[in-house]
Amino acid sequence: MMKTNFLLRGNNINYPKMEQKPNTQAIRIQTSRTNEKEHSTPLFLTSSFCFDDAEQMRATFAGELENNIYTRFENPNVQEFIDKMCALEGAETGFATASGMSAIFGCFMTFLNAGDHLLSCSSIFGSTHTIITKYFKRWNIDYSYGDLNDPESWEALITPKTKMIYIETPTNPGLDIVDMEWLGKLAKKHNLIFLVDNCFATPVLQRPIEYGADLILHSATKWLDGQGRVLGGVVVGKKELIQEIYLFCRNTGPSLSPFNAWLLSKSLETLDVRIQRHCDNAEALVKALDGHPKLNSIKYPFHPSHPMYEIAKKQMKRGGGLVTFDLKGGLESGVKFLDALQMLTLTSNLGDTRSIASHPASTTHAKLTPEEQEAVGITPGLIRISVGLEDIIDIKGDIIQALEKS
Ligand code: PLP
Repeated sequence: MMKTNFLLRGNNINYPKMEQKPNTQAIRIQTSRTNEKEHSTPLFLTSSFCFDDAEQMRATFAGELENNIYTRFENPNVQEFIDKMCALEGAETGFATASGMSAIFGCFMTFLNAGDHLLSCSSIFGSTHTIITKYFKRWNIDYSYGDLNDPESWEALITPKTKMIYIETPTNPGLDIVDMEWLGKLAKKHNLIFLVDNCFATPVLQRPIEYGADLILHSATKWLDGQGRVLGGVVVGKKELIQEIYLFCRNTGPSLSPFNAWLLSKSLETLDVRIQRHCDNAEALVKALDGHPKLNSIKYPFHPSHPMYEIAKKQMKRGGGLVTFDLKGGLESGVKFLDALQMLTLTSNLGDTRSIASHPASTTHAKLTPEEQEAVGITPGLIRISVGLEDIIDIKGDIIQALEKS
């Protein structure tokens, strides 16, 4: 039996009984204090847990008692991280995984059977796109991609076999925005599971449950850790759905390690302040680059030129920490820009304290044809900046000097 989260437990002294704001809960939720009376959560580096007697062991395995059994199923550090994520997302319960991709794959494999159909769109993270377009065939799972610029056309793509709607918003790397209120209603009308990858916004900026999402997942590797240290993933949402994910994952093994969970749980204590500062820096960068002669365009969810600006304003509190711009000189300028940077890091992660630059057309998306690149919003000169927490003067200074050389 999956462990109930703290909202449903009641016997744990360190789990708040009084009403608290989600951000307070992300700081205050903690595993039961041990006899050592520690203030900060200790690490539970153990692969299994002990029973007092045969009857306790039997009853736990039978699901009559909620005790820890084995770290592939549950672990106090992992549970603490999950419970904080539930508080932040306003979800009933959750399951944590070793990476964002294992959260995504675990959700697909739990609910999609041979013959089923998934509705998504091409503006999704590259590895997710690969699972859908390359591996689904093996299991006879079908999919359709709706056109984000033509929401009216999505309903016609739903078939009697459709089981799930899956989206990301904002998308990676195109920063497209999907209207979650509209899709939540569509999913409800057709009785479909509505799953949202909330990696780019984090629950600080948007809570998809408020728009009808049944399940929300994250690559915790990004903003949740926020310091580029560990891989992790998490899915939260409706209890009856998470129970299915829990059973699938506890048997197939993509569980989060206790060490990574301990670290991610500590990171959540500073998530709100970090995200606010990332947004401050991103907004200042957008302002500084707006109208720059080397750029065709700049894209940021809270910039009025964003095609889905109104929807972003409706569902997000702020625009987030990612900014993209399109260099006039295309592919060649993109490469020159990266080489001219003096402080920003060239690395494939995002959501770090350190600002990061990437050029999808020459790296992550180089294997796609120009048409495929265009379909996922990647132009030859597209640069993605994950705006870090350094002094904004230094971030702007490095980008502007590199633009001059691009
Ligand atoms: N979802 C999004 C939006 C991502 O950007 C990423 C990784 O970049 C993933 C999922 C996959 O996460 P992970 O690298 O933790 O497996």
